[in-house]
Amino acid sequence: MIPTTTRLADGREIVYFDDAPGADRAAVDTRDLAPATSHSELRHDPLLGEWVVVASHRQGRTHLPPTDACPLCPSTAGRATEIPSGDYDVVVFENRFPSLGAGVAADVDDGELADPALRRWSGGGRCEVVCFTSDHGASFGSLSDVRARTVVEAWAQRTSALSRRADVAQVFVFENRGQAIGVTLHHPHGQIYGYPFVTPRTRRMLDRAREHEERTGRGLLADVLAAEVEAARRIVTAGAHWTAYVPAAARWPFEVHLVPHRRVPDLPALDEAERAELAEVYRDLLARFDRVFDDPLPYVAAWYQAPVAEDRDLAHLHLQLFSIQRAPDKVKFLAGSESAMGVFINDVAPERAAELLRDAGPTSSVERPGGGR
Ligand SMILES: [Zn+2]
Repeated sequence: MIPTTTRLADGREIVYFDDAPGADRAAVDTRDLAPATSHSELRHDPLLGEWVVVASHRQGRTHLPPTDACPLCPSTAGRATEIPSGDYDVVVFENRFPSLGAGVAADVDDGELADPALRRWSGGGRCEVVCFTSDHGASFGSLSDVRARTVVEAWAQRTSALSRRADVAQVFVFENRGQAIGVTLHHPHGQIYGYPFVTPRTRRMLDRAREHEERTGRGLLADVLAAEVEAARRIVTAGAHWTAYVPAAARWPFEVHLVPHRRVPDLPALDEAERAELAEVYRDLLARFDRVFDDPLPYVAAWYQAPVAEDRDLAHLHLQLFSIQRAPDKVKFLAGSESAMGVFINDVAPERAAELLRDAGPTSSVERPGGGR
């Protein structure tokens, strides 16, 4: 698939990924926009050794606009949006209100720099928006086979593109769905962050994987996957290349890990068969999340990929899909134990969550949207 790359009026990059070649994506952004700027800043938490992003300019970002003012719908004759084209399949563009990406990576010198306990850094990095469809009322779970496959291709190609940037150390592909999870735009979309540092959770996972591999000679996630397959009762669904299970120590009321059987570092390393099955099995999982209760579950879908330049041999790509909804009318809040101490208290037994998600699956291949297994 050859994407079409062009620029928005303020200089931001926009990339069209089409289901089939031949689409005309020459439309020009006619808006009068000031050049895009970001004032985000990284501040180092000396107690934990972790970066915090301060992005105060985001307070003014678009918040839950009405459908006829949606910035992610295609442009029409009367209204120019973030997407100049009158239609699109999948499109990726730089966020106008990014959490990361202050241009040149450099330390911020405001007089406090001399004190190593108060480090600041403009960092750089990149924030992109991925629109899955031009259909405002759709969801990832309702996409066609072909379209879901196009999104997987866009994730992989953008991961490769951001990995080549000097100011990106790790690429994070994710989707937040539902107002309860903090979504500010209803149009079906995900995001891609290129962090200028390796995220703390990834760092921790790599350290654990290294310890395990030095002790046993085997991959940690591969061993966990084998143990879950052996135990069987937390498996949600499985294919020839991917298995989805509720982890034994799930933190969230509904949490599924989707793991490729072959250890690969990131999405670009997946082969054709793995990508095709991913498009299918991921939509199947989202459909189960929609059916567990009467209302579609709010969710976070988070891809754990290897850092761009270090410990790639230790990493094992996987997806963490989870919901904060613990009952039809109850949401789990991150309260004292979780927020302060980092100790999660899960109100739903992982075995029960797996059972509910299995029961929410298609009862036969005939009923499965789009066919498949
Ligand atoms: Zn829209």
